[in-house]
Amino acid sequence: MDDKAPEKRYCDDCGHAGTDGGSTEESYCGGCGRTVPYPEEDLCPACGETNCMLIACPECGGEYMLDESDDIETPNAALTGAEGVRVEGTVIRGDGK
Ligand SMILES: [Zn+2]
Ligand SMILES: [Zn+2]
Repeated sequence: MDDKAPEKRYCDDCGHAGTDGGSTEESYCGGCGRTVPYPEEDLCPACGETNCMLIACPECGGEYMLDESDDIETPNAALTGAEGVRVEGTVIRGDGK
């Protein structure tokens, strides 16, 4: 297994996506939603919350979320019979892509 594959993330604010791991200078606060200078501890200098420091977008400093859309395997879909119908309906046909 290749655990070293970088995590793919995307930013909802500016649409930036990549595997660069996010900003190393800034952090996004999940508590107050502000972008703050990368804190030494998991503590927001703006609102004082702890355990709320999230990865920030390297472009705009917004929340840089894990992009799981790359995960095509969706093992859960195979297990839920009823939902399986919807999966069949979304099969992408070879139309050049
Ligand atoms: Zn905060
Ligand atoms: Zn962004």
